[in-house]
Amino acid sequence: MKIFKTAQLQQQFAKSVKKNAQTIAFVPTMGFLHDGHLSLVKLARQKADVVVVSIFVNPKQFNNPNDLETYPVDLKADLQKLKQENVDAVFLPTAKNLYPKNYQTYVDVEELTKPLCGLTRPGHFKGVTTIVLKLLNIVQPDFAIFGKKDYQQFKVIERMCLDLNMPVKIIGAPLKRTPQGLAMSSRHVRLTAEHRQQAVCLYTALKGVSEKARQASLSLSALKKNFLKQLPQSESIKIDYVEFLDSQTLQPLRTYLPKKTLLAVACFFGEVRLIDNIVF
Ligand code: AMP
Repeated sequence: MKIFKTAQLQQQFAKSVKKNAQTIAFVPTMGFLHDGHLSLVKLARQKADVVVVSIFVNPKQFNNPNDLETYPVDLKADLQKLKQENVDAVFLPTAKNLYPKNYQTYVDVEELTKPLCGLTRPGHFKGVTTIVLKLLNIVQPDFAIFGKKDYQQFKVIERMCLDLNMPVKIIGAPLKRTPQGLAMSSRHVRLTAEHRQQAVCLYTALKGVSEKARQASLSLSALKKNFLKQLPQSESIKIDYVEFLDSQTLQPLRTYLPKKTLLAVACFFGEVRLIDNIVF
């Protein structure tokens, strides 16, 4: 497994792969890899001749400095897992290499970034789209895989690549859960044992409310109330948002449920912010 630490070396690798008429599938990550990440790597393996994974904790997408400082890292374990998945190359850049002095260019997707995490994490998506565009220019993949755990991110990247005529196919991978139903996340290690158990309620509530929404003629505000009632009553558990949206346009819904509705939630368990969603 090759490891490249600069954009220049990774770009040279892309050139040599293309010279051999081979295709590249790419999985960008922030590391501390779990089975959710590895399911994307497995999908990448099915799509192309060469699989590239990047590990980079992108400082520009963190609106909360404490979240960035406490983001978990275990490079040794990550590289071992990627080797087991027969990954061909890992891109491990430094922030200095990607954002040198005088860096001043950013990408902004206007509408899809307005609701949900765009509202409650100002600047987050500008950081995400900028790094993803840079990574795509460096890795030059034919396919790039994004998890639907970060559903809004997936839609934003898909839009950006369409709008900017990027020669890459964006693929959305299914959300992977623990056997208890918790959406897998690198941030789980920062949860207390109690919060980890309680966090399962997010999925139980998403499932319950999506079933109710299809059966009865309840208003969306009644359904939201029903969702909130299913969260444990505790000072340390705080909802950030729970929202019904059109799953394609991400327009928040007020009264009517289209064929495919996205029900998305973000919730703090102590300092740890978890997101989850269901499309129904
Ligand atoms: P991250 O390292 O959190 O930036 O995630 C890297 C990629 O893995 C993103 O495309 C995420 O959407 C995806 N991902 C993270 N957790 C999961 C999960 N539980 N199921 C599916 N994809 C995931």
